[in-house]
Amino acid sequence: MKQYSLFLNGQWAPSTSAGTFSTRNPADLREVVAEYAAGGAEDVHAALEAARTAFPKWAATTVVARGRILSKASQLLESRKAELAELLTREEGKTLAESTGEVQRAVDIFRFFGGLSYTVGGQTIPHDLPGNLLLTKREALGVVCLITPWNFPIAIPAWKLAPALLAGNTVVLKPASQAPALALELARALQEAGLPAGALNVITGEGRAFGNSIAVHPAVKAVSFTGSYAVGHGLYQALAPRMVRTQLEMGGKNPTIVLEDADLDLAVNLVARAGFGLTGQACTATSRVIVEQSVAAAFTEKLVSKARTWKVGSGLTTGVDIGPAVSEAQLQGNLDYVSIAQNEGARLVTGGRRLTDGDLAHGLFMEPTVIDQVTPSMRIAREEVFGPVIAVIAVADFTEALSVANGLDVGLSASLVTRDFKRALEYVDKIEAGVVKVNQISTGLALQAPFGGVKQSSTDTFREQGAGALDFYTRTKTVYLDYSV
Ligand code: NAP
Repeated sequence: MKQYSLFLNGQWAPSTSAGTFSTRNPADLREVVAEYAAGGAEDVHAALEAARTAFPKWAATTVVARGRILSKASQLLESRKAELAELLTREEGKTLAESTGEVQRAVDIFRFFGGLSYTVGGQTIPHDLPGNLLLTKREALGVVCLITPWNFPIAIPAWKLAPALLAGNTVVLKPASQAPALALELARALQEAGLPAGALNVITGEGRAFGNSIAVHPAVKAVSFTGSYAVGHGLYQALAPRMVRTQLEMGGKNPTIVLEDADLDLAVNLVARAGFGLTGQACTATSRVIVEQSVAAAFTEKLVSKARTWKVGSGLTTGVDIGPAVSEAQLQGNLDYVSIAQNEGARLVTGGRRLTDGDLAHGLFMEPTVIDQVTPSMRIAREEVFGPVIAVIAVADFTEALSVANGLDVGLSASLVTRDFKRALEYVDKIEAGVVKVNQISTGLALQAPFGGVKQSSTDTFREQGAGALDFYTRTKTVYLDYSV
C-alpha cells in the first residue's frame, strides 16, 4: 500500500486533523491501493497562503524558464511511465493499455507546454499616430484552484496544471478522492524538475470542504473545474459573489449518428470503442446511438455481436478490454439505468448484469450492455450513465436524427458515421456540441486542439487544451508608448 501526504509549500505534510482516507482497487476490493491525508479547511487555507506567497517570485521568472521546468517534468514522467500506468489501473480500474495512453498524454501535455513557452507573448498593434507603440502583454492572474475528477486522474490535472503554471500562476490542486495518486505523482515530478516551493500545492480530502474554503478566500483569482454538473453548478454559485473567473467542464450525453449509407462495420467499431472503452467512464463516451430506421436492426445485431466479444476483467490482465466501474455507487448506478430503461419500455438486447464469476466477484464488473427500442424521452436517452451502456434510438431520417441529437441541454462531443460529404458538413454546421467528429469515435482528443462543451456541459467561455488554454490563465494588459515626444 502506498502512502501519500498533502503537498504543501514544497513539503509532504500530514493534514491538520491527522485524518486519513484510502482507496481500493475496483478490480479487487480486497486490495487497498493507497492511504491519503484528509485535508480540511485549515489545510486549504495553508495551501492558498503558500500559493499567494510564492506568486510574485514565480510570476517574475521568465516564461521560458517556467517552460524548462515543464519539459523536465515531462521527461521525469516518461521515465516512470510503466509504474504510473500500473498505479492508475490499480486505483481507477481502466485497462493497462488505456492507463499507459493516459500517462503518455500527460507526458506529451507537459512537453507541448514546455515548447510553447518560446511563443507565449502579446501582440503589437498598429497605432493611429507615428512614433507610438501599441502592444499587449499577457499577465498571470495569481492563485488558481484546479478541481479534477477521477476518470482521467493524470490527464486532466496535467491539462490544467501545465498552462496554469506556464502562465506564471501559482496553483492549489484538488484531485478527486476516488483516485488522487496520479495528481500527487505529478507534484512529485514537478518538484524534482525544479518547481519552487508553493508554486503548486495539492490538497486531498473532501470536495465540499475544499469548495467552501476557496469560495471565500480572497487570494483565489480563478477556478478551473472538471466534474459533474451538480457540483459545478453549486461551485459557480458560490464563486459568483466575488466574480471569480471560473471555468467549468462537465458531463455530456454524447450521440453517434449512424446514417443508412454508413459502413456498418465501421460504425459498430466506432460506437463500441466509444461506448465500452474506458468502461464507458469518459465524458465524451458515446451513450446514445441514433440510427436511421432502415439500418437499425442490422446495426444493432452487429453491435450486439461485437459487445459479446469484449472481455471484462482486471485491467492488469492481458487481453482484457473493459475494466471495472470505479466504485460500488457507480456500478449500482449503471445497473439501475438498465432497470429504469426496461421499466420505461426499452429492450435489453445484451449485457445488463453484474459479473461475479471467479475472481470477478471481488471487483465491480459489468457486462457491456446494449439497449434498443429507446425513445428520446426515456431517461436512458437523456441522462449521463457513465458506464458501458449504449442506448440505440431508431429515427426516420437525418433531420430527425439531428433533432434528437440536439434535443438535450448538454453538448460535449458528437459523432456521425456516413459517406455523404454534404450531410457531414451540414452536421458540422448544425450539431450543438463543442467537439464534432465524422467517421471517428466520440472519445479521444488531440492535445493541441481546443476542447470544451456547450450548453450545460460547460461554462462555454474559455476552452481547455491547445495553445488557447493559456487564455483562461492569463489576463491581457494593453500598453501605449509614445516615443515621438
Ligand atoms: P464530481 O463528483 O463532480 O467531482 C469532481 C471533483 O469535484 C472532485 O475532485 C470532487 O472531490 C470535487 N468536489 C465535490 N464536491 C465539491 C464541492 N462542493 N466543491 C468543490 N469541489 C467539489 O465528478 P466526478 O464523479 O469526479 O467525475 C465525473 C463527472 O465528470 C461526469 O459528469 C463527467 O462527465 C465529468 N467529466 C467531464 C469532463 C469534461 O472535460 N467535460 C471530463 C471528465 C469528466 P471529491 O472526489 O472529494 O468528492
